[in-house]
Amino acid sequence: MGFQRGYTPTAEHRRKLSEARRGKTPWNKGLTHIYSEEALAKMSETREERIPWNKGKPCSEETKEKIRQKRKLQQITAETREKIRLAGFELTDSVRLDAWIDYVKIRDNFTCRKCGKTNLKGRDCQADHILSRESFPELIYDLNNGQTLCCQCHGKKTRMENAVR
Ligand SMILES: [Zn+2]
Repeated sequence: MGFQRGYTPTAEHRRKLSEARRGKTPWNKGLTHIYSEEALAKMSETREERIPWNKGKPCSEETKEKIRQKRKLQQITAETREKIRLAGFELTDSVRLDAWIDYVKIRDNFTCRKCGKTNLKGRDCQADHILSRESFPELIYDLNNGQTLCCQCHGKKTRMENAVR
């Protein structure tokens, strides 16, 4: 006595199945030649164009540097986005401020908003609170209250603010 009696397809069942299949075209029949020679040539052409955009082309130092900077910026942007996302939750103030600083610099494209000096790097690139932190503590993390300044312009602004006080 076998259990699951009736599950094994009987000879009758198999015959019915094959009858049902007969006369139907396989789904992929004839598909091998659906593309014309012309279409195939076009496809391979496109493929060649797409892959090695700079293959064999001399890449100037300037271009290389641009690519490097772009990659770096993309990296920073991704990190910043993550930081800003996290900053919405519970995180230390210093991390929130870091995210704010990163955001301001990237948004201003590392360009001084006062003198227009571009490509600011390192210590020369500073994120400033337009309305000072001391006077407007509620605007410390306000992205609209940030501007990128070069070291010189930031120094000038800070001295002015101190003089007023
Ligand atoms: Zn400046």
